[in-house]
Amino acid sequence: MKRAILIWSARELVFAIGMVRIISLLGLIMAFHLGHMPEASCGKRPETGTIYLVPVGKVEEEVLLYLPSQLEKIFPFPVKVGEALPHPDYAYNKTRGQYKSDLILRGLQELDLERAKRIVGVVDLDLYTPGLNFVFGQALIRGKTCLIALPRLRQEFYGLAENKKLYYERAVKEAAHELGHTFGLSHCKRPECVMHFSNSLYDTDRKGRDFCRDCRRKLPF
Ligand SMILES: [Zn+2]
Ligand SMILES: [Zn+2]
Repeated sequence: MKRAILIWSARELVFAIGMVRIISLLGLIMAFHLGHMPEASCGKRPETGTIYLVPVGKVEEEVLLYLPSQLEKIFPFPVKVGEALPHPDYAYNKTRGQYKSDLILRGLQELDLERAKRIVGVVDLDLYTPGLNFVFGQALIRGKTCLIALPRLRQEFYGLAENKKLYYERAVKEAAHELGHTFGLSHCKRPECVMHFSNSLYDTDRKGRDFCRDCRRKLPF
């Protein structure tokens, strides 16, 4: 009996030592992130309650100037552009010639988000997620991060004549849609609601940029 207790205690000791090691390691990882990311990620000091658009890699300035004022009409928070992150080489899939959105989203999660309301990654690269040929965007449901991909929102991608107004409108809708997910909304059956799933640009162009009455009621603001 005594021996059994002793063995159990030894196991507990090993477990406790293991836990201490894990906790120290977590502490180190957190310190690393806190030390590197917070101010660098969003320009000066991230402002509380602000939605930040964070370009990942090269993104044209024009769309970044347009999006904040439009998103501020939909969301009751200030929207600002944060400092750009480097080109996401780590997410490139040579075989597909596309970038894996999950990995970029993970990269955005590593920013210190405590002060920012939300982070919207803006990527001018063709994105995919396993199981889908491409994605217009991706979000962490009830998370703090989401992202949108610009290339497939342009008419030129499909060999059509450039239409900037349409392209910008699509970008606003995609950003509002992904932000909606971060505020806990799932897809909506109403084709006119911004939370309607866009299987193609036909759906994106048909829906509005705002939330329907039912979706709006579920939003936490
Ligand atoms: Zn969605
Ligand atoms: Zn809806």
